[in-house]
Amino acid sequence: MTEDTLFSRIAQRELPADIVFQDDRVTAFRDVNPQAPTHILIIPNKIIPTVNDVTESDEATLGHMFIVARDLARSEGIADDGYRLLVNCGEHANQEVLHLHMHLVGGVQLGRMLSQQARNPT
Ligand code: AMP
Repeated sequence: MTEDTLFSRIAQRELPADIVFQDDRVTAFRDVNPQAPTHILIIPNKIIPTVNDVTESDEATLGHMFIVARDLARSEGIADDGYRLLVNCGEHANQEVLHLHMHLVGGVQLGRMLSQQARNPT
């Protein structure tokens, strides 16, 4: 049996979070440390640790995460101005929680995608 994660416990409502959407496949909740006026995490209810662990059977759920992101962007009022969807994978991307999650960030001009350091590594 897969061990629970911080995020699976949020999805099961064992830990508190500001859940903004949930259905049988995904849960979306506000990031506890928001990096922009809108910062929502969208997770599969099923525990998939990282993108490296994705299988073909996850395709519908992962596609559904984009539909939920689209709808949340609309309901947050940021769809027209634009927003960013981010999925970190592993150490180089600083993935902190080993339960695949999509960040939906927006509500402000987000600037370039990667830091200067990433563009010009020393
Ligand atoms: P990542 O670095 O992609 O793994 O992102 C993990 C995100 O989870 C960070 O933006 C954290 O602020 C967020 N986070 C950690 N714990 C919680 C929590 N209990 N509720 C909501 N967001 C959380």
